[in-house]
Amino acid sequence: MCVDARGIIVATPAFLEHAGMSSAAAAMEAPMNFVIPPAPPAAVPVHGGGLFPVHRIYCVGRNYAEHAREMGFSDREPPFFFMKPADALVAVAEGQTGQIDYPGLTQNLHHEVELVVAIGKGGRDIPASDAAQHVYGHAVGLDMTRRDLQAQMKKDGRPWCIAKGFEQSAPVGPILAAQGRGPMTSGAITLAVNGQPRQSGDLRELIWSVAETIAHLSRAWTLQPGDLIFTGTPAGVGAVVRGDVIQARIEGLPALNVAVR
Ligand code: MN
Repeated sequence: MCVDARGIIVATPAFLEHAGMSSAAAAMEAPMNFVIPPAPPAAVPVHGGGLFPVHRIYCVGRNYAEHAREMGFSDREPPFFFMKPADALVAVAEGQTGQIDYPGLTQNLHHEVELVVAIGKGGRDIPASDAAQHVYGHAVGLDMTRRDLQAQMKKDGRPWCIAKGFEQSAPVGPILAAQGRGPMTSGAITLAVNGQPRQSGDLRELIWSVAETIAHLSRAWTLQPGDLIFTGTPAGVGAVVRGDVIQARIEGLPALNVAVR
């Protein structure tokens, strides 16, 4: 994006390409005449350099048996999904500690450490056997949750948006490209608060694997390059308060540290 001599914002070819417009339109560099400035795309740093632009954030609910049990559910069920807006992302650079503000309307802000899958190639009705070729890479993420509001919404049979899709609810660490490494099907996934262990599991305990999740999700929505999928959290979710530092880890991926202020 740039501003021309008349003060009109002009979309650059890179922006148009990101916005899904044709290369012919991009070549024209047509003035866009946005009536208010468009929001910049959300993006996550890639380990080794570059930025991954974020399109949508999908999340899988109750995808580890022990966590499903702690939430009061026991039966295996088909995967279910919810979303966070892309601008709920808090991208944390390698070696940094991210910052999130304790949100309003809650007295019970919970941490959920999750494997995040970054989609590099879109598609619909993707068979699980082809899923790996749609994955750009992986990262550690936090599905921050206003648990008290979620409990109320569940009780009332209402949508979870207010519990899951609030601002700064999706901290994500650097993406490690999958190329040459293959799919992530095992490895320790843990979370500590101020150095005290809270969550512990292994990716092999996922009820629905990454490949199966992509298969299910791509039946409901056409996946796009730039989509992130939060794949669910192991047992041990709990509350954080202002001043806490969350240490989220998945074996083989860059660490994610986030302070609550
Ligand atoms: Mn979650």
